[in-house]
Amino acid sequence: MSGNKKINFSSGPAALPPEVLQEASEAIINYNNTGLSILELQHRGKYFEAINDESRTLVKELCGLGDDYEVLWLQGGGRLQFAMIPMNFLGEHESAGFIDSGFWAHNAAEYAAHYGNAITLSSSESDHYRHLPEWPASIPEDLSYLHFTTNNTIYGTQFPNVPKTNVPLIADMSSDILSRKTDYSNCAMFYAVAQKNIGAAGITLVAVNKYLLGNIKRKLPPMLDYKAHADARSLLNTAAVFGVYTSLLTLRWIKQKGIDVIETENNRKAALLYNEIERNSIFHSNIKKEDRSKMNVCFGTENKEIDTAFTEFCSKQNITGIDGHRYVGSFRVSLYNAIPLTAVEKMVSVMQEFEHEYLKAR
Ligand code: PMP
Repeated sequence: MSGNKKINFSSGPAALPPEVLQEASEAIINYNNTGLSILELQHRGKYFEAINDESRTLVKELCGLGDDYEVLWLQGGGRLQFAMIPMNFLGEHESAGFIDSGFWAHNAAEYAAHYGNAITLSSSESDHYRHLPEWPASIPEDLSYLHFTTNNTIYGTQFPNVPKTNVPLIADMSSDILSRKTDYSNCAMFYAVAQKNIGAAGITLVAVNKYLLGNIKRKLPPMLDYKAHADARSLLNTAAVFGVYTSLLTLRWIKQKGIDVIETENNRKAALLYNEIERNSIFHSNIKKEDRSKMNVCFGTENKEIDTAFTEFCSKQNITGIDGHRYVGSFRVSLYNAIPLTAVEKMVSVMQEFEHEYLKAR
């Protein structure tokens, strides 16, 4: 990698491990000594079939899923999942439950309302999503499914685990998939856009229990029907070959490190940054301590002027991608798996230097 490589704390598309970037870039010129670029590989040829199969098997292995799950790589991002889930699993006169922990969770419910009843069981919207909503004490038995978002990318909150539920549980894990050990098989389905923890933008991982596939509510064109994608082993249309390959490389990297090690590192990274936010007199976090995300650390300063000065200060230190989401403002430092501890140490020292300079100038 060239010498000007930045420390990228972007929320997504996000930093990828350098090993993945290296191997992916070599494959663009000559994939595995085949004399072909990965960009030229046929999606129905033997080379891509092997990539597709290995990637789907690795997801199962890393998430501890049995053969009762289908793993798919779909296109259309998280938002298409917001639509496909109710299209497939919510009948017109049926209800689905939603835990409203933030913008994306809310959006998923809005999409579902086009197809059936979308019932919000719990929400922290009135507190600007500064804490997690309560997990509902009881979940109505007649819901077709319950949807929740494990990590709130925009406001920076995260559920501690994936609970067992009495109705099929569907989880949007876009911003914390494979960042920690969790009970993936408590979900009847979970999904994650690739561009945060498991690859590049353009594909979405879907893992769905086969029993749900027997329960599709309406006739759908194949591209919108999970069963058609599963029957085609995720090769219904031209696969996003390079995207799936980049995810395969990232999954291999995760496997080699081990989820235990990744989780320990992620805990350390988050603790280091939150401790500095608590200590530093310039920065503060409005997010309830127990609910804070280990993936997206959101914080602010007293006013916009200081925000701008800090952004410039970081930029001079080669740090980028720290702007908060446009709905929230201030700062968001994303600490996905590919961010090394050293990058967070650097961030903390820059925050300390900034405090020092700022107090001196005042
Ligand atoms: N869910 C979550 C948790 C997200 O963070 C995002 C986007 N960052 C989405 C869904 C939407 O994904 P997309 O932009 O691919 O539609």
